[in-house]
Amino acid sequence: MRVEFPEFRLGTVLATSFTGTLSERHGEAVERIPTPRRLVDWLAVSGLAVDSCTDAQLELARELRESIHAAATAAAIQGPLPAAAVRVINDRSAQGRAAAVLTPEGKRRWQLGSASCVEDALGVIAADAIGILAGERDGKLALCASPSCRAAFFDTSQSRTRKWCDMGTCGNRQKKARFMANQRKNSRSAE
Ligand SMILES: [Zn+2]
Repeated sequence: MRVEFPEFRLGTVLATSFTGTLSERHGEAVERIPTPRRLVDWLAVSGLAVDSCTDAQLELARELRESIHAAATAAAIQGPLPAAAVRVINDRSAQGRAAAVLTPEGKRRWQLGSASCVEDALGVIAADAIGILAGERDGKLALCASPSCRAAFFDTSQSRTRKWCDMGTCGNRQKKARFMANQRKNSRSAE
């Protein structure tokens, strides 16, 4: 029997797409990389294909994910960056051996070290997080307005007023909730 796993929510920003593999952190949390195999799948669709993944490497990945989430949350509310999180991000970045390579089509691709190991992929993700946290990229870290989510996301909208981590899920749910509340109000006033 095939086991069904929660689908991935892929964003355009690698680091926050990665933190999104655990969603609804303040509600009923959904773990989207519950097994090493699912981390391998996520890395493959994110342009960081690895050969294999052990339980220990999955642990390492989750530790990095929660560290990025903690640091991004602090940055979004303009608080001090948690030292332990910064240490983990830096360690992962320093231990990765990936190289940026230019394809003939002029695209950037990541070439992992000779063993294509999880550590190399995590190094790329950590470096992406550092770029965002250091304010190098055009955009701003913000927290999702959904109370059960509060995911940190990278707002690249012109006005920097995006409210939801993902329009298709959190944004939609909120819109539906507002619609239902209005329906109830209208039906009451019609009585
Ligand atoms: Zn959200």
